[in-house]
Amino acid sequence: MRRLPKRIGTKGIEREYARAIIGLVPNVIKSVCTKNLPRIIAIISRAHDARMRIDAPHTDAGEADDAQALLDELNAAIDDAISVDRIKSEVRRLGVRTANQSRDELNRRARSVLGRDVFAAEPGLRSQMDNFVAGNVAKIKGLDEETRTRIERRVMDAVTQGRLARDFASDLKKDFGFSDNRAALIARDQIGKFYGQQNNLRARALGLKRYRWATSNDDRVRDDHRALEGKIFEYDGPGAPGIGHPGEDYNCRCGDDPIFEDLLD
Ligand SMILES: [Zn+2]
Repeated sequence: MRRLPKRIGTKGIEREYARAIIGLVPNVIKSVCTKNLPRIIAIISRAHDARMRIDAPHTDAGEADDAQALLDELNAAIDDAISVDRIKSEVRRLGVRTANQSRDELNRRARSVLGRDVFAAEPGLRSQMDNFVAGNVAKIKGLDEETRTRIERRVMDAVTQGRLARDFASDLKKDFGFSDNRAALIARDQIGKFYGQQNNLRARALGLKRYRWATSNDDRVRDDHRALEGKIFEYDGPGAPGIGHPGEDYNCRCGDDPIFEDLLD
């Protein structure tokens, strides 16, 4: 039996998924806000000036009302620009790529070790895909909501506290950066999880019983995952205690090296 080739991994798909999510939500919100930034800044500056003039604990409600009206307008513009259908179709497209890669990788490694192709019926793959799409659309909608809430709070705080416009602008940049990071985290975590699920189902359908845990072998691997390197687990067992199968734990980049010898028994 020949040596098992290395895994290719899902990094490329994760990056593409992160870019897709950022393009579909944070960038849309960013673009609407940026286009209207002069109007937002004008209200914040007016509120700041008013606060400088009247040295009193109360804030004039005028600017807060103006800010709320503008935010409502921006929300409506964002609603128009964000397409749930496009989110769904991009999630599905990257889900299919992940599923195909898990199929191709398993076949490639089987071919290399066994010297032949392996095929199996794959019941359950479709329902896993449907769950992936539904779950990820919900997460991306959550990111949308979270981003808008942060920006709304940022604007209203600036107005009611009389913040300087330039401080507001630099904080707003941080909020956008936060959303991009969140999108990248969703991509990394979700693609890894889905890949692991698809892989597990396919491996079992092929008759594979066990695998060796394979970390990505770099300095970002957590200690408790590193301790699993090379350990043997069963595909239809619970995996590692408290961690599960590769990819299941949050942001886990580990994989499995199938024990193809089990197919020869
Ligand atoms: Zn891991």
